[in-house]
Amino acid sequence: MSLVANSPVWRPFTQHALQPGAYKIVHAEGAWLTAEDGTRFLDAISSWWVITHGHRRPEIMAAIRRQTETLDQIIFAGFTHEPAEALARRLVEITQPGLDYVFYSDSGSTAVEVAIKMALGFWRNRGADRRRIVALEHAYHGDTVGTMSAGARSVFNAPYEPLLFDVARVPFPSSGAEQETLDALESHCRAGAAAFIVEPLILGAGGMLTYGAQTLAEMKRVCERHETLFIADEVMTGFGRTGSLFACEQAGVAPDIACYSKGLTGGAVPLAVTMCRREIFEAHYAQDRARAFFHSSSFTANPIGCAAALANLDVWEHADARARLANLGAMQAERAARFAQDRRFSAVRRLGTIVALDLDVPESGYAATLGLDLIRFFNARRLLLRPLGATVYVLPPYCVTGAELDLAYDAIEAAADQFASRAR
Ligand SMILES: *Cc1c(COP(=O)(O)O)cnc(C)c1O
Repeated sequence: MSLVANSPVWRPFTQHALQPGAYKIVHAEGAWLTAEDGTRFLDAISSWWVITHGHRRPEIMAAIRRQTETLDQIIFAGFTHEPAEALARRLVEITQPGLDYVFYSDSGSTAVEVAIKMALGFWRNRGADRRRIVALEHAYHGDTVGTMSAGARSVFNAPYEPLLFDVARVPFPSSGAEQETLDALESHCRAGAAAFIVEPLILGAGGMLTYGAQTLAEMKRVCERHETLFIADEVMTGFGRTGSLFACEQAGVAPDIACYSKGLTGGAVPLAVTMCRREIFEAHYAQDRARAFFHSSSFTANPIGCAAALANLDVWEHADARARLANLGAMQAERAARFAQDRRFSAVRRLGTIVALDLDVPESGYAATLGLDLIRFFNARRLLLRPLGATVYVLPPYCVTGAELDLAYDAIEAAADQFASRAR
């Protein structure tokens, strides 16, 4: 397998001194990536959580081709186009009740920045001094300065620490300790927090940490009691990943603001939306220009992205898309069960289509390079798996077959043979 080196490309989340090359992919289809030299990789993490149904889903590719016949980027202030109008109407229909307005942007981070700005603008325009943002321990909301501020502080954002604004942090609701989370949230809300931002049911980059729907519903009730705005960051969980179209559905929670991006176009092209309740739009509605919502991405509501998203929503209307989701959840549960009694792993967990498990590795020093060692180990077995430290997770596109999943789990078993600190 050959790696492309001597490239001017500076890749994301890459220490080039330790990871000098990259596999050059020339073809993607279904759950597979094919490299220049013919090597095929099973994409067991949906290309960083974006691909939902599978790579190059034909209906989505066709919609993109069709849209390029009539529109490219169109300025979105003072002008509009049918793909954006139609998509907004359909999103209002399928998301949680009350999310009546749709603001377009182009990435998950931007969608979250927009959400935070909407929340702060809401309170300012209402003349209230509510500015505090509350977030969960271990949260991840993106890599821009605002979203890093809301996310957990770590080695990943240490250099920018002086720029990050202060947020109130509540403990992750680990099993049995949910009340502590709710109590901490309540005290920040009572003190007049502007908004609480949360990844519903599962914290992705924070380590695929899951918590119950009931806790999510309780968090929402706490916010309601004190009029703290509830922001659901569904950038990763949206569009089927947790077993329902949106994670909030499972808790019967209707957020005040919600962010969607990764799976919005089925993962084909970048697009994001921040949706909000009518009151938030209305707080910005006035004869006074200074009360407008001042945000714009150059590529806001890109027509080709909107066409891809509409085609994605069409795919979701087929009953077999839902059936496939349920079937994948069952296949994943079956495979996760194989590790439940394996002493080399702990916290084997599944939420919808996602399985995660923690590999027990020797303490000290070793853990720091374990992530990279595991990535190399899996790549050598023609698998795209990228553990988060010692947390191995399988987050496949929904077209994956049982036999393909077995390739991933057999490799995870082999990784345990090589890296685990104790015997099975
Ligand atoms: C990926 C992610 C983001 C950031 O999205 P980008 O498109 O990478 O900017 C924000 N929130 C969550 C929960 C995510 O998983």
